[in-house]
Amino acid sequence: MPRVYNFSAGPSMLPLPVLERAAAEMTDYNGSGMSVAEMSHRSKIYESIIHETEESLRRILSIPDNYKVLFMQGGATLQFAAVPMNLIGKTGKADYVISGQFSDKAYKEAKKYGDIRVVASSADENFTYVPHITRADIRDDASYVHICYNNTIYGTRYNYIPDTGDIPLTADMSSYILSEPFDVTKFGLIYAGAQKNMGPAGVTVVIVREDLLGNALPFTPALTDYKITADNESMYNTPPCYSIYMMGLVFKWIEETGGLAAMKERNERKAKILYDYLDSQDYYIAPVKPEFRSVMNVTFVTGSTELDKKFAAEAEKAGLVNLKGHRSVGGMRASIYNAMPEEGIIKLVEFMKEFAKNNKK
Ligand SMILES: *Cc1c(COP(=O)(O)O)cnc(C)c1O
Repeated sequence: MPRVYNFSAGPSMLPLPVLERAAAEMTDYNGSGMSVAEMSHRSKIYESIIHETEESLRRILSIPDNYKVLFMQGGATLQFAAVPMNLIGKTGKADYVISGQFSDKAYKEAKKYGDIRVVASSADENFTYVPHITRADIRDDASYVHICYNNTIYGTRYNYIPDTGDIPLTADMSSYILSEPFDVTKFGLIYAGAQKNMGPAGVTVVIVREDLLGNALPFTPALTDYKITADNESMYNTPPCYSIYMMGLVFKWIEETGGLAAMKERNERKAKILYDYLDSQDYYIAPVKPEFRSVMNVTFVTGSTELDKKFAAEAEKAGLVNLKGHRSVGGMRASIYNAMPEEGIIKLVEFMKEFAKNNKK
C-alpha cells in the first residue's frame, strides 16, 4: 500500500527519510549490534543519542544556556499539573488565558494547586479568535501566566507573543513548536508533546529558564519535578528511549533541510494553498477569524453534519486520511504539520473541489 496523506492532529505524519533511517537502524544501531529499543539508557551509546538530541534542539531554536531542556513523560497533559506544581510556589497564584479546550484543561488542572484566575477567554465566540492580553491584565503577584500558543482543536494561533513584563510567560506549544523560528527568551517555560511536530508519542519537551527551578510544592512527585529532572539530565528513571531517538532523527532532518526559517517558508506556503482556496469559494466555511488562523491546523465545515461525515469518508478512500474534526467540534480539520508535503495539500484541495461539485447543498 502506498503511503497515505495523514492529516491527523497527533500522532501525526513523520518525515519519510526519518522513518526510513529508523527502519535501516532498527536491528543494528550504528554498529552496536542492537536496536535503540534494546539499549540500556545508561550506556555510552545511548547517552550520546540523548545528548545529541538535546544539542540539536538547542541549535534549531537557539536556546540560550540559561534554559534547561528536559525530556519528560505523560504528555502535555501531565504538564498541566507539573507547571503549577513547579512554578506556583513563590506566591500561590497564577493567571491563565483560555483560548480553547487544552488551555481550559490546563486551567482546571492548575486550580488543584493554587489560586488561579482567568485573565481572558475566547469562549464567548466559540474560540474562533485568540484574546489580546498585556501586562496590565495580569496580577502583580501571579507566579506566572499560562497560554496555549496554537489551539489544535479550533485551528487558531497567537499572532503575537504577549508581553507579560516581569511575570514569566509559560506556553503549551504542542502543535506549534518547530513550525517556525521564535524567540525562546520571551518565555519562562515552554512545553510540547512530541507527537504533533517532533516525533512519536511518549516524550514531552520542556524548556525552562533556570531561575524558575527550585520552587516545587513539597508534594511534587520526583518525576514531575523540573529541578530533579534537570539535575539528572532527564534520566532520573528510564526515559522514553526510543521516542527520544526518533525525535533526534526529526531534529536532524530539520537541520538538514534548512532549519526553522526554511520550515516557516514551506509551512506558510502550504497553509496558503488551503486558505486561499477556502477564501475563494462559498461551499466550505472556515470559522476562524483570518488574523488568528493556525498554520498547522486548518478547520472548515460544509454546514451539514451529513456532508461533513461523507467528506471524511470519501477523502479516506482517496488516500487523504484523518480529516474528521475533533469529536467535540465536528466538521473537518486538516493538520498540516512539518512532515506533510505540499503535494498532500494540493491533493486535498483537488478533492475538496471535486466533492463540492458532486455534492450540491
Ligand atoms: C495534543 C495536545 C495536548 C495533549 O497532549 P497529550 O500529549 O495527549 O497529553 C495538549 N495541548 C495541545 C496544544 C495539544 O495539541
